[in-house]
Amino acid sequence: MPGGYKHGDTPKRAMVRGTISYLESQGLPVNKSAIFRHFELSRSQGYAALSIPASKRNDPEWEETRGRPSKISEADQLKMENILWDERYENVNLNWTGLAKEAGLTTECNARTLHRTMGTLGYRRCLGCPRSWVHKKTREKRVEYAERMLEMNQQPGAWRFVRFSGELHFGFGLDGKMRLVPRVGEKYCETCREQEPNPAQSWGRDIRRVHCWAAVGYGFKSELVFYDESTSANNPGILSMADYCDKILDKPVKSWLAVGGPESFLLEEDIEAFAHGGASKVNQAQQWKAAHGLRSYFNCLDSPDLSPLDTQWPPHKQWTLPEPLKDWDPDTLRQAVRDAWASVDQERVNMWVDFMPQRLRQVIDSEGRMMPW
Ligand SMILES: [Zn+2]
Repeated sequence: MPGGYKHGDTPKRAMVRGTISYLESQGLPVNKSAIFRHFELSRSQGYAALSIPASKRNDPEWEETRGRPSKISEADQLKMENILWDERYENVNLNWTGLAKEAGLTTECNARTLHRTMGTLGYRRCLGCPRSWVHKKTREKRVEYAERMLEMNQQPGAWRFVRFSGELHFGFGLDGKMRLVPRVGEKYCETCREQEPNPAQSWGRDIRRVHCWAAVGYGFKSELVFYDESTSANNPGILSMADYCDKILDKPVKSWLAVGGPESFLLEEDIEAFAHGGASKVNQAQQWKAAHGLRSYFNCLDSPDLSPLDTQWPPHKQWTLPEPLKDWDPDTLRQAVRDAWASVDQERVNMWVDFMPQRLRQVIDSEGRMMPW
């Protein structure tokens, strides 16, 4: 129907909904009161327009604007999530089908859908407390990695040469707050989910996102590289290999090489980002590294506990800003991110780096379990 007008609805109400759904779909801030005023509706009329009658709840046009619901019901997701926090399952070699079966899923789903819905099978790390869960396979890989790293960086102080790098994705809420978008396995455990006030619900959703690349090490903090101009909440901020080469390797990394030479540091890169060339042998990034004599290695998959870029933040990876942001202008957002980066305490990072050998030994001793925050 033209203009989204529905029988029994007034065009104004439909327009209010249309406006809000458009803003939401573009990741733009939604000021409901201003929109109601624009359409000359009172507050209660405005809110009435937003609460859609039960008879229309299945209207696809309406549903679409609220984000497509997952094929897997919330109850089923919760059952699976609970298994992924249950230590009894840490020694079970779960795969997606096995997880669905253990959870007694009521609908049949393929591994792809399960993966997309649940994020990862590899680990869980609670954003609210030290609890974690690590899959058997992930634990084996982590032990292997820790042994290899201890072997590689045996000299005392060797870790002081490492620059830990990767992408950071910041989210901004309507309430003017800022958070670091958690890694796929970073969620809230059952205990934290049941707490009042509920930390899992304290973050609504991102209305804007800012993506940057950063590196940190002993006595070292890089400038942030904002490699993506879009601040839309729908943008996942994936760093392309071309951007990685042009905006990162060829800019800051090249300048570090020029200052101290290839022996002055060792770059740890995030294996998760395909952009860095972890998944293929011959690619643009590898060629750049070889041509410039860059010494580098990849971090361990599913191991946020082994990176300062995932451990040096406030609780819940959220900030209480001195003043909530009032505008979502890209420059304002980037400045808030720069301020957060500036507040990362170098002394704490230094201590964290010097603790690396002990941390890796702990990974080995605990059979690959995650180190608490
Ligand atoms: Zn917890």
